Amino acid sequence: MKTILVTGGAGYIGSHTTLELIKNGYDVVIFDNLEYGHAEIVEKLKTISKYDGKVIDFIKGDLKNPNDIDTIFNKHRKIDAVIHFAAYIQVEESVKNPQKYYENNVSGSMNLFSAMLKNEVKKIVFSSTAAVYGEPKDLNPIKEDCAKAPINPYGRSKLMVEQILQDYSRTFGIKSAILRYFNVAGANSDAIIGEWHEPETHLIPNILRAVNGKIFQLFGDDFETRDGTCVRDYVNVEDLANAHLLALKYLELEGISSDCFNIGTNNGNTVKEVFDACEKVLQRKIDRKICARRTGDPASLVACNEKAKNILKWTPQRSLEDSIRSAYKWQCGFLEKI
Ligand code: UDP
Repeated sequence: MKTILVTGGAGYIGSHTTLELIKNGYDVVIFDNLEYGHAEIVEKLKTISKYDGKVIDFIKGDLKNPNDIDTIFNKHRKIDAVIHFAAYIQVEESVKNPQKYYENNVSGSMNLFSAMLKNEVKKIVFSSTAAVYGEPKDLNPIKEDCAKAPINPYGRSKLMVEQILQDYSRTFGIKSAILRYFNVAGANSDAIIGEWHEPETHLIPNILRAVNGKIFQLFGDDFETRDGTCVRDYVNVEDLANAHLLALKYLELEGISSDCFNIGTNNGNTVKEVFDACEKVLQRKIDRKICARRTGDPASLVACNEKAKNILKWTPQRSLEDSIRSAYKWQCGFLEKI
């Protein structure tokens, strides 16, 4: 396997995975509409790929436009597999504007799968989410076969694509490895790339942004958890990128079936614990204020990662503190620029 199409490769997880692919000898075609991805990130990746003797091609386009997708496959006749990240990811926005989510995340994915079928590309790693489980009660850590009951259009759009892939696997022989991410954190350890969302809604970057005088807003301390704040499973982005590499290798094996895997650490931290860890790593006090709950936040989401460990041979290597350290290193360089 040599050339991988990465949709959404200019985004946070897509760019870290692209870097992991280059380091492991793959050529990459990045497809991104740059609505949330960044041209600067693509340029950085291109520079690195030259040192590594690998090729990155960038095609700007939108999955909602089948002609844009045709451009990829017309230009690159030999794509061995696809890693599909491109999607909208904001839960609250998905509640306000479900059409945007279904058109992009579901119809856009179907356009991609149609092009794959037309061009006989039969391997895909799909970026899914713990949001497909909804609000599991007393089931943490969550196993892959736990009931799927997403509570917002974002989670439903991801579950729909999972189901489409299962049908396309049975009928058309497209082999898929579905990765359900829990909470992703951190940055490339050399601070070459990192988390860059506008607007930023995620916990760790928001705590770190509060270092320079802003007050961190903690959404809800009245959940039924050990300290009243939400429990999440924070997986390091470089570990997650490695899971994609292993998923590709899994798809190369003879006789395997399409399958889905939780990508998390088996371990949860509350928002207060993450906040304390940030203060400890940075060795400074950060201002915070307790605010009302955010709509749709489940109390606790922790992955059982046994399946990914056993089948993909994936083991997370980096701690929460490693993620905080790399996120801060990236953010220090990044905030100087904006
Ligand atoms: N959170 C917070 N303040 C922020 C961002 C997030 O208190 O500025 C909380 C959020 O309510 C949730 C947890 O941190 O309980 C993780 O939120 P994030 O958006 O990072 O990930 P999610 O679990 O929603 O995908």
